[in-house]
Amino acid sequence: MSEENFYNGTYEDKMKMLYSKMSQKQQKESREQVIYMCREYCGRCPSYAGTGEENLAFCMMGKSSVITEKKGCLCKQCPITKTMSLRWEYYCTEGSATELSQAGK
Ligand code: SF4
Ligand code: SF4
Repeated sequence: MSEENFYNGTYEDKMKMLYSKMSQKQQKESREQVIYMCREYCGRCPSYAGTGEENLAFCMMGKSSVITEKKGCLCKQCPITKTMSLRWEYYCTEGSATELSQAGK
């Protein structure tokens, strides 16, 4: 896939491409980058605030065990949404992008 096609690709295309090419070390670094970025979005979102949640990157890790109420989601503003062509939101209550994709959503 060319670079241009990569940027226009779906979440599923990007995951296939990235994970077939990345070493374990690169995958770990990529997860750390997502968590770093996520702090500015999930970390400041109304659904997260005051819940006592400390985990981040729900688009990757799946549902939160403590966030239950949808009070607004900042995922659409997060650069990971564009980079990975994420098409969902509220990963903290709905599950990871991969789970949502596999559920046909
Ligand atoms: S997934 Fe959305 S609603 Fe949940 S904590 Fe992150 S920004 Fe907030
Ligand atoms: S898309 Fe949402 S859950 Fe994923 S890193 Fe961005 S703010 Fe966090």
